[in-house]
Amino acid sequence: MSTAAIIVAAGRGQRAGGGTPKQWRALGGRRVADWTLDRFRGRVDHIVLVLSPEDTDAWQEFRASNLILAEGGTDRAGSVRNGLLALRNHGIEKVLIHDVARPCVSNRIITDTLTALDSHPAAAPGLAVTDALWTGDGVVVTGTQDRAGLYAAQTPQGFHYDAIVAAHAAHPGGAADDVEVARAAGLSVATIPGDADNLKITRPEDFDRAERIMGTNMDVRLGNGYDVHRFGDGDHVILCGVEVPHDRGLQGHSDADVGMHAVTDAIYGALAQGDIGQHFPPSDPQWKGAASAIFLRHAVELAGRMGYRISNVDCTLVCEYPKIGPHAEAMRTEMARIMDLRSDQVSVKATTSERLGFTGRSEGIASLATACLVKS
Ligand code: MG
Repeated sequence: MSTAAIIVAAGRGQRAGGGTPKQWRALGGRRVADWTLDRFRGRVDHIVLVLSPEDTDAWQEFRASNLILAEGGTDRAGSVRNGLLALRNHGIEKVLIHDVARPCVSNRIITDTLTALDSHPAAAPGLAVTDALWTGDGVVVTGTQDRAGLYAAQTPQGFHYDAIVAAHAAHPGGAADDVEVARAAGLSVATIPGDADNLKITRPEDFDRAERIMGTNMDVRLGNGYDVHRFGDGDHVILCGVEVPHDRGLQGHSDADVGMHAVTDAIYGALAQGDIGQHFPPSDPQWKGAASAIFLRHAVELAGRMGYRISNVDCTLVCEYPKIGPHAEAMRTEMARIMDLRSDQVSVKATTSERLGFTGRSEGIASLATACLVKS
């Protein structure tokens, strides 16, 4: 059984200004939707992005990603239903439903919501109201409202998949959120503590506030990786996930992808979580001949679980032959696919060592890598 998040991004909300739906507006150098998606990467097994049919550029862009895409409905509930439908053959146990306009959601809220679903069919973050509450007519205060027991609802709202699918199917429509739909179906909804920083971008000034929250939490980590594999018999090498014809092969316990190993170690290094050998001991026969993508995916998912997103990686291969240049683009594309990054976040380059040393004598290939991770 697996977990999923549905990011509802089909709204046309333009109250935030700028003439563009708010999820596609810039925030701290990226789009709101990019921040929000990164919060969930590595935290759940599948991510569904619900897009408006009008956002043709986004459809084009995200079709090449690992995301599952679903088409927005005529209202928010319709969009959520389409997102749930897109997951129907994925064996989902727990699903989180999140507004794309909440890019500052913390790792803690995501974890708490998933954990609460171990013991409840539904769970969601709520922020206890602390301000005094008034009623008003827009001109004067007309009354006061007791705030005891009142919560401001946030997302992600989490549910047992089958239960929320049934609740949406039975609901007549017009609900403010998925918790209302769940409660109408008789589900008990656990509250977990919300966070004032988990704001929903609604008005123009919310962009500044979201940028301040992200800036305050900025935690940048660097890691480096270095690896060497020796040449042996063979007719190809695998470098950064790409098979390159060569008159020799690389020796190693796994597929000996020296570039991908260096990048994987750079990510472990940034997290201060050891190296490949500790996570995948060479003494363990199950990793014999393993595709190195397994190691890299593990490092990426560990980063996500620890609350970091990968900002970029840079990998240098050191060898006289094979020539890397003709394959560098394919290597970037493949590494980006495995890491769930855009290819402009992945660099693969090569150098010779001027025929000096073991790489110069073509006894093997060396690789160096750097990874930059940012707390998300
Ligand atoms: Mg290695």
